[in-house]
Amino acid sequence: REFSAAPAVGDTVTLEGAEAKHAVTVNRIRPGEEIFLGDGAGLRVLARVTQSSPGLLEAEAIEVRQVPLPTPELILVQGLAKGDRDEMAVQAATELGVSAVYPWAAERSISRWDAQKRVKGRARWATIAREATKQSIRPHLAHVHDLLDLAGVAALTADHEVLILDPTGPVALTAHVRARAASDERPIVLVVGPEGGISPRELETLERAGAHRVVLGDTILRTSTAGPAALSVITALLGR
Ligand code: SAM
Repeated sequence: REFSAAPAVGDTVTLEGAEAKHAVTVNRIRPGEEIFLGDGAGLRVLARVTQSSPGLLEAEAIEVRQVPLPTPELILVQGLAKGDRDEMAVQAATELGVSAVYPWAAERSISRWDAQKRVKGRARWATIAREATKQSIRPHLAHVHDLLDLAGVAALTADHEVLILDPTGPVALTAHVRARAASDERPIVLVVGPEGGISPRELETLERAGAHRVVLGDTILRTSTAGPAALSVITALLGR
């Protein structure tokens, strides 16, 4: 929820409308229980519920913290995929801590976003990211960007470390992350292809721009699994 100012310990914080209704009727939160509230921008409030009804939830703030965004930030570039495979990736990647997600219209993407879908699809991914942020009690909301084309992905190499997840990649993801300088604060971008994979032209363009191809084990993972699996590996290696 939005806060006009961060509450102090002892303040009463409230939830209203749909959020309160969900908390009370679905999560069945009752007076005396402790809950977390946040603004999606790092604020994390631990509060004890004092009153709950489907339209209003009141709680007393017990602990208030502003959590910094961990560095390096982790970002997912997800190739559009058919069914809900790309959406599954967005959900799991958000739970695993990405700060941002980019939909990518890859050459082999069977799913295509026209102008209308570009707006609607992005809004749907944003809703999925928001729900996943709340479900995993993450202090930072993952931002869903506008659809990228290949040039847009390549441009990220200017100020991000871009890793292309590629089953034929020359270096293991683990080896690449272990060799990374601890002082390197550039966000890490993971590029995941659609079900048909990343085309040779795309790989070449991204590598020429400065991206690195990395492999994750010796099995082929679905597009919905590859990003989250890589994120789990990276967060473990970074000690998060
Ligand atoms: N035949 C396709 C290929 O060879 O790239 C398989 C595509 S796979 C279903 C979808 C995406 O998941 C790939 O483009 C890649 O980004 C990622 N991926 C799947 N398995 C991987 C692995 N073992 N290592 C790295 N990336 C992988």
